Amino acid sequence: MTRPPHGEFGLIAALAEQFGAPPVEVRLGIGDDCAALAWPDGHCLLWTMDTLVEEVHFTFAYLTPRQLGAKSLAVNLSDIAAMGGEPRYALLSLGWPKDRPLSEALEFGRGLAEAARHYGVKVIGGDTVASPPGVVITVTVLGKVPEGEMLRRAGARPHDLIFVTGPLGEAAAGLLILQRGLALEQEVAAPLIQAHVNPRPQLAAGRLLAGSRLATALIDLSDGVASDLWHICRASGVGADLEARRLPVPPGVAAVARQLHLAPLDLALKGGEDYQLLFTSPPDREASLYQAFSQAGLGAPVRLGEIVAGAEVRLISADGDKIISGTGYNHFA
Ligand code: ADP
Ligand code: MG
Repeated sequence: MTRPPHGEFGLIAALAEQFGAPPVEVRLGIGDDCAALAWPDGHCLLWTMDTLVEEVHFTFAYLTPRQLGAKSLAVNLSDIAAMGGEPRYALLSLGWPKDRPLSEALEFGRGLAEAARHYGVKVIGGDTVASPPGVVITVTVLGKVPEGEMLRRAGARPHDLIFVTGPLGEAAAGLLILQRGLALEQEVAAPLIQAHVNPRPQLAAGRLLAGSRLATALIDLSDGVASDLWHICRASGVGADLEARRLPVPPGVAAVARQLHLAPLDLALKGGEDYQLLFTSPPDREASLYQAFSQAGLGAPVRLGEIVAGAEVRLISADGDKIISGTGYNHFA
């Protein structure tokens, strides 16, 4: 018997081996944020799927069905953003327990429909089943990107700079506020809770990076920088040095960490669900990058560190250096 795979990513790698290599029209198979298929007019069709399981990814104690509807689309749109693409269509698989009112399923649908309208996506199919206790949602999103612009996890080179499009750790801190019933001022708590409840896929930034060719590799942050930067490193055959002092940790995130005696950096590096974009860019393009984001009316990306030769993600701090590769969220870890 073959050795059992280790953790979520070991399992995916073992499955990918069983499924074998895809045919040539598949420009990207297993291993990136979306699969990509050759499409007419020099485009790729992007194809992604994400599942949300009650009590694993969400609980109705903190999320209304309507909010869940919007979020279940948003997390998929984030993967389209991570290729530099534009989302077009969605399919919804709804596993709904018999003992939960169907009126709530319609509320869920309303939230998804509102988000779909907002992002210019049409829902064109799906499947509906009764599930054992616990709602299970799978959304598939299809999108498009000009083939030559498509950004992958592979492509980072030593000396490239590493950037993130926004703050880190907010959604993780928001979830902790809800779970632990932390007492914080409303102005501090509200944006963190919003980050958990209502993630904003960074589609405009993704399109900008792809169209301007300012990025060499791109991924969205679902599991935390420690894990997702490591995916870029593995796909690109490089290592990364992150400078702790550069990580954009908002004061609210630090306040939550303090109350729970956690290290703020741990929330920033390993707290999941940031749904910001993490990308690499050649060192001589830094000024152009800030200028392009500013001209597009987008917040300036934050520089976190540098790609280096090697294979590990290293955190450089005043307390010394530490390997943090792959220490973010991992199912089955
Ligand atoms: P993301 O966090 O961006 O959604 P994942 O970590 O879920 O990405 O998946 C990484 C890659 O593995 C993707 O290319 C995805 O399509 C693929 N993948 C994940 N699970 C499976 C599976 N059960 N079978 C085939 N491919 C999978
Ligand atoms: Mg992703």
